Amino acid sequence: MRGDPERPSFRRLPSVERLLQGLDASGAAGRHPRRLVVACVREAVERARRRLAEGRASADAITVDALLADARALLAERSAPSLDRAINATGIVLHTNLGRAPLCADARRAVAAASGYTMLEVDRATGERGSRQAHVTALLRELTGAEAAFVVNNNAAGVLVALAALARGRDVIVSRGELVEIGGSFRLPDVMAASGCRLVEVGTTNKTYVSDYEAALTPETALLVKVHRSNFSMRGFVRDVGPRELATLGQRAGVPVLFDMGSGAFVDLASRIQCTAGAAGLSGEPTVQAAVASGVDVITASGDKLLGGPQAGVLLGGTAAIGKIRAHPLARAVRIDKLDLAALEATLRVYRDPDRAWAEIPVLEMLARSADDLERAAASLLERLRPVTAGAAELSVCRTTTEAGGGALPGVELSSWAIAISPQRGTLDAWERGLRGHRPPVFGRIADGRLLLDLRTLGPEDESPLTDALAAIAGSHPAAPA
Ligand SMILES: *Cc1c(COP(=O)(O)O)cnc(C)c1O
Repeated sequence: MRGDPERPSFRRLPSVERLLQGLDASGAAGRHPRRLVVACVREAVERARRRLAEGRASADAITVDALLADARALLAERSAPSLDRAINATGIVLHTNLGRAPLCADARRAVAAASGYTMLEVDRATGERGSRQAHVTALLRELTGAEAAFVVNNNAAGVLVALAALARGRDVIVSRGELVEIGGSFRLPDVMAASGCRLVEVGTTNKTYVSDYEAALTPETALLVKVHRSNFSMRGFVRDVGPRELATLGQRAGVPVLFDMGSGAFVDLASRIQCTAGAAGLSGEPTVQAAVASGVDVITASGDKLLGGPQAGVLLGGTAAIGKIRAHPLARAVRIDKLDLAALEATLRVYRDPDRAWAEIPVLEMLARSADDLERAAASLLERLRPVTAGAAELSVCRTTTEAGGGALPGVELSSWAIAISPQRGTLDAWERGLRGHRPPVFGRIADGRLLLDLRTLGPEDESPLTDALAAIAGSHPAAPA
């Protein structure tokens, strides 16, 4: 007797027990915790049940082998690291979602060395308790000319603790043109509120003059704040007050000045980066050294933007202001961890020789790549990728334009080269998804009906996994038999 066609026969699904035996017999379950194996088998059966119930599969298609394959795939997926490495073929050097700055080789080694017991807070000479800050403060002072330095776990925390320490319960004056939102969750007015300061806005969206700050000064004013626009730029009739002018006003009025630089470049970017648009933006990008020299009292910057190091917040300034920040209770809550500190120290050491920094700090090296070099690299990668995608996709090289990204260098465009993939089998979306689903995942971008893999952010170590990923996708979209 045949069953009611409306009611698929769930009874025919193999039992969890039977599937577990199957996995054990094949050795697939061996290395994995039992609970995980059982959960994956249950889920494979549950998915099959749903496919049957929704009429997406026939009972015949759901064999023991098919269920075992699903369970093995689930097991592999659940056992693989989630925070996996990724291949950045977007061309965006500071890609927030892909972890912003990749660390230089020295920083990677330093992280590995610091991951066990370390000299984190021990004074080597006396054996007494030392400060974790000591590993970087002297270097930061040496590299920037600042009198004092302090590091925390990111720049948002740096701004928060600086505001709380210097202006809690009092007024802070900021230009309306600099009340930024960065990365969706760092909104300057909210950070002000969280640190207990009163925000006093001056000027207009596009123009703020020294006289605007001056007119807003009262005995309640605790701080003048300047913020780098970081992720947008303004054109046309724009006027803002630079750090030097603001520092002069602050000194005259006896009010400290804080400059949130955001990206915080430690080298002059305009000297080595060729950009197609926004060249003024690049030469207008202040270095940390110039900001220190401008006379502002406190500078805050990110560790993982243009510095090219780990996530960190770098605070630089006068001994008195930095001392207050260091002593604030929030400083403990936002302290930097040993791995980031190790990476930061190693990164800063590289900057002692600026030529080495341009060659070894990945962010700087990638930003400085010339279009000619990228064109050559694209041509050579094309030769390697063409054979593995033959019949499944048409590959070519093309010129592209990308932004530096990551809330740094707004409006600055860099000319680059990419491999352009035009699928002959499968859709563009399927190729994009396939690359993203590969291990390690590959991120490109779709433009003008093609999938682009930008050479600016690719390194030699990416070529093999990239080739494997494309071979796998081409293999899953085989060419039609001739
Ligand atoms: C990026 C940025 C921040 C936040 O820095 P994080 O290191 O991401 O916390 C704050 N202010 C400005 C101006 C920025 O550009």
